[in-house]
Amino acid sequence: MASSEIDKLINEVSKLPGLGRRSAQRITLYLLKNKERSLMPLVHTLNEANEKIINCKVCGNIDMIDPCSLCQNTKRDEKTILVVEDVADLWTFERIGFFRGMYHVLGGSLSAMNGIGTDQLTIKKLMQRIEKQQVTEVILALSTTMEGQTTSHVVADKLEQFDNLTVTRLAQGIPIGGEVHFLDENTLSTAFQSRKKIV
Ligand SMILES: [Zn+2]
Repeated sequence: MASSEIDKLINEVSKLPGLGRRSAQRITLYLLKNKERSLMPLVHTLNEANEKIINCKVCGNIDMIDPCSLCQNTKRDEKTILVVEDVADLWTFERIGFFRGMYHVLGGSLSAMNGIGTDQLTIKKLMQRIEKQQVTEVILALSTTMEGQTTSHVVADKLEQFDNLTVTRLAQGIPIGGEVHFLDENTLSTAFQSRKKIV
């Protein structure tokens, strides 16, 4: 029978996304067996992260400085804002590296089930930025789930009031390398509706 301290640790680990009780037990045991090599460096890194990593008050990214290094980068085009749900999405765009504008992390998507309404998202902040930075294009890069789509509509509605602002969203359709006969109905019909003239 595990002592209460070990139990507490297993409990904390099992709260991490994607981990069930069994994985939490395995990780906890691994850490305790390898204190020097795994547990101590982890404790140290977690402490550092806790002390140094903060939220950017402009875009919602996480960094060691506020405004974050992306917001402070004068080479980026501040007239274009790419709206994402989560910091992980921002990382994806940055990893690929073709986007040279600014980001705005919305903080999720609207969901009655999870109690996320418009006030829980950073829509107001986005609107303030559009005004302040004289933004000319907002690109909505939200999920194509029902919640993501609803959120896109709500945000687009709110942005309608700005003159000289173009609001776009990422194209939806056939994935690169995808075969037509494997596609689900929704993907295929959306791809059909958003077909592009090529000749
Ligand atoms: Zn930022």
